[in-house]
Amino acid sequence: MKNNIVDLQNKLQALLLSQHDNFTQGKVADYIPALGNVKPELAGICVATIDGKTVGVGDYQRPFSIQSISKVFGLVMAMNRLGDSLWQRVKMEPSGQPFNSIIQLEWEKGIPRNPVINAGALLVSDVLTSHFSASKLAFLSFVRKLANNETIHVDKQVYQSELSHGNRNAALAYLMKSFGNIEAEIPELLSHYFTQCAVAMSCQQLAQSLLFLANKGVDPLSKNIICSPKDAHRVNAILSTSGMYDQSGEFAFSVGLPAKSGVGGGLIAIVPNYGVICTWSPPLNSFGNSVVGMNLVAGIAEELGLSIYH
Ligand code: GLU
Repeated sequence: MKNNIVDLQNKLQALLLSQHDNFTQGKVADYIPALGNVKPELAGICVATIDGKTVGVGDYQRPFSIQSISKVFGLVMAMNRLGDSLWQRVKMEPSGQPFNSIIQLEWEKGIPRNPVINAGALLVSDVLTSHFSASKLAFLSFVRKLANNETIHVDKQVYQSELSHGNRNAALAYLMKSFGNIEAEIPELLSHYFTQCAVAMSCQQLAQSLLFLANKGVDPLSKNIICSPKDAHRVNAILSTSGMYDQSGEFAFSVGLPAKSGVGGGLIAIVPNYGVICTWSPPLNSFGNSVVGMNLVAGIAEELGLSIYH
């Protein structure tokens, strides 16, 4: 067991070192100004396994803005609360459009293509805002419980920055409301969405908190049932087809794992029956995915033969 851990750590270290020249290949997101202040050369990777091992290298214990990775937690909460009726309000198809596109939503009468593009995550935020008396607190409690860490917090600076630059998200939400697909008042819904995006977590916390998706809905560490096996399967299916924005097909083609990235530079990949890989490196490619993060996940998935399509 110990040798396995040392071996994995060495592999991760070698992979991280191999990325040394790639930090300049992407661009740190600055459309949310507070995200633009992060140093581009910060990077970490962590692997947590369902049998309780956690191995990380680089900045894997340093919290960063989880951004769209929060959509995974929100989706699980909404599925648990609403059951199958959720799927009448949001679909499960790849969008083939940028994550914050508005065009498709008009054509498709305010029904988002899937819950991990912004329109879909705003719809999920509506469910949470309308079904929890204090949805932001409920969200924070959920991730704190999953990560077994009460210090996880919302980065107020990122929240404020996103709130004052969130016109496109507001437009998506108002458009859906005009079609009758949103219940809550839009400012309340946006406040929830920006709060969950502004949660700061480390690679280690993210990897450990998402282990239930690699373990048929059961947190392998606490043994708590987080969602049904069917819903764990559904989330993984959506992450496989849509989690990497409009690069999801290429990621499935070359890596073969359910994954979700965020514009803060984070990337989580679920390896069913094995564990979770989480990487962080802020510079993004033109699709909004972390350049180094994708290379790291691709590298370790190949070395360990983790693709779900094998
Ligand atoms: N808060 C970000 C936004 O709404 C999330 C986007 C992302 O990480 O993909 O633009």
